[in-house]
Amino acid sequence: MGSTTSKSQRGRGVIESYRAFLLLSASAPVISLGEGNTPLIYCPQLTKRIGRDCEVFVKNEGMNPTGSFKDRGMTVAVSKALERGASALICASTGNTSASAAAYAARTGIPCIVILPAEKIATGKLVQAFAYGAKIVAIDGNFDDALRIVRHLGESGDFVIVNSINPDRIAGQKTAAYEIVDEVSDAPDFQLLPVGNAGNITAYWAGYREYHAHKKSTKLPAMIGFQAAGAAPIFYNRIIEKPETIASAIRIGNPASWKQACAAIAESRGAIEVVSDEDIVAAQNWLARHEGIFVEPASAAPIAGLLKSCNSSEKVYALQKIPEASRIVCTVTGHGLKDPDLIIQQMKKLKSIPATTTDVRRAIGL
Ligand SMILES: *Cc1c(COP(=O)(O)O)cnc(C)c1O
Repeated sequence: MGSTTSKSQRGRGVIESYRAFLLLSASAPVISLGEGNTPLIYCPQLTKRIGRDCEVFVKNEGMNPTGSFKDRGMTVAVSKALERGASALICASTGNTSASAAAYAARTGIPCIVILPAEKIATGKLVQAFAYGAKIVAIDGNFDDALRIVRHLGESGDFVIVNSINPDRIAGQKTAAYEIVDEVSDAPDFQLLPVGNAGNITAYWAGYREYHAHKKSTKLPAMIGFQAAGAAPIFYNRIIEKPETIASAIRIGNPASWKQACAAIAESRGAIEVVSDEDIVAAQNWLARHEGIFVEPASAAPIAGLLKSCNSSEKVYALQKIPEASRIVCTVTGHGLKDPDLIIQQMKKLKSIPATTTDVRRAIGL
């Protein structure tokens, strides 16, 4: 297969779409659930808020098979693990990695072990890991503790680690950047995304750089990463012992790809920023209600940053001087249904009324 990707190859999973870039041998098995090829959605309301002739797009990674971008890396990691004769997968997870690993393991017929921090995990994600039949072990510790244990167990050779410290995960996740360039025929000026373990920002930057080297784009984006204020080790440049945020997918105090993320930010003349939990929740609601895109809290972090940058009293430094006519892509990383607890709080106000048209008309109040 050549290095170009015809539209007809899309929608068959990221390995079939981008095999030439993923360095897979011809004999490698392909374990796919049709991941990737997610919508890049033009957002008129966000665009209006930014103004200055800019265009804002959302890359909706919630549309992957298990509802997050983790599937892009998992298809490659699991396919390569199988080629090397792996007999079991293991991961530490705040939720989405376990959902994805469990699904791809189920498809290959090998066991998947999930080491789960006992602290709160979003309901929908845990439901997924159970549904796909993973072996789940909860520990009294946080994500960083879970990853430490997984690293030890991985050294024994009995398990293939499918956390983002597995380079095959990062390789697969690069395909999101390829798709964006393929779709709009160039790289954007700004690429915004949430940052937890920092694997994804590393992967996007690698993807954009490779595509640029292959002359598929004329420019490279500035990479702008967003951390939650209570879990912002890169922003504060120190390990956070007890990271705290409602956005569980980015509740990480010691990112595995810290150095690589700093390199991506420096090389792209990008930045790392923080947003508060309050801003994250407001942005989650705003995006659902103004653009019809429902994302989990972590995914709303870049939207929160973008909205904050429009607020003249509280500028986000990195976005303060967005040049006229910039193209901005915000990656929203996971589906809103995975973590519905906050929205369920809002639903609790719902009370039933008598079943008459008159009562219903009054209740609608329009
Ligand atoms: C994993 C994840 C992140 C964080 O990605 P990193 O590669 O760890 O920085 C953000 N949002 C969602 C929904 C995730 O599942």
